[in-house]
Amino acid sequence: MKECCRKKPIINLQAREVLCKKHFTKYFESKVFKTIRQFNLLDKKENLGVAISGGKDSLTLLSILSKLSKQNKKIKLTAIIIDEGIKGYRDETLKTAKQFCKKNKIPLKIFSFKEEFKMPLDKMLKVLDTKPCTVCGILRRYLLNKKAKELKFTKLATGHNLDDEAQSIVMNQFKNNISASVRLGPKTGIKANKNFVQRIKPLYLCTEKEVATYAYLNKILDKFTECPNITESYRARVRDMLNDFEKNNPGTKHATVNSFLDVLPDLKKRYKNGEVNHCKICNEPASKDKCNACRLVEKFKRVK
Ligand code: SF4
Repeated sequence: MKECCRKKPIINLQAREVLCKKHFTKYFESKVFKTIRQFNLLDKKENLGVAISGGKDSLTLLSILSKLSKQNKKIKLTAIIIDEGIKGYRDETLKTAKQFCKKNKIPLKIFSFKEEFKMPLDKMLKVLDTKPCTVCGILRRYLLNKKAKELKFTKLATGHNLDDEAQSIVMNQFKNNISASVRLGPKTGIKANKNFVQRIKPLYLCTEKEVATYAYLNKILDKFTECPNITESYRARVRDMLNDFEKNNPGTKHATVNSFLDVLPDLKKRYKNGEVNHCKICNEPASKDKCNACRLVEKFKRVK
């Protein structure tokens, strides 16, 4: 955004520009639409699922995609939320998500760990000696892909922003897990596979600060709720480290993501011949004979 009236500036962007509410909103929405075009995230016709959590990122994404869908009737939207069963957090965000979808007339599909795995996350964690985010991440990814296929979504949009991506890149580097990084980027997938519903990240180039500002100014959320398990996660430590770096060396997060985007095409080429197996229990995609979700469920049954 080059032009702004600078009346009541509300945000100071990285390039030392200050923007007022009206011009920031315009800047932010243009940035999201430009990301969609730049990375070819949407086709002319889509049955698009939007994975939401009831938090600022996913509801901001849903709000902008809903504007797009109103302008283009060939983009059909459905929101999908997974209720992992995290007391004091998910019950709250679920309420927010339901209200938002009702107000904006967006169909919402809700699926839960309790229904699918016969137990909410809180109870699983009492018997499994595994980090909450590891269990939650594996089972949520599994359920989202399974339900997205059942609902015949052509793509699944998620609210990941630039900060999230920078954290994932650094986490995979620190863990020497480059084969996981190949699944990052604004559009997932190394090659077309009918067992995976492709994920897209329209907020890919928007910083956390920009998303939070947009959500606040446009009254998308009135309060921010954070999962109590986040403090135990490796991601939270990387997030704090990157925030500290960004504070002292502005531009660190953009540099992390931009340099990753530079090498991503080479990484995809390198891993494109990898085999995708199918889990012998549930038939979902797996890198070994069983998928990570079925392995977890088996472990859970053994120790229960
Ligand atoms: Fe799940 Fe961890 Fe996210 Fe909480 S912070 S919702 S446990 S992945």
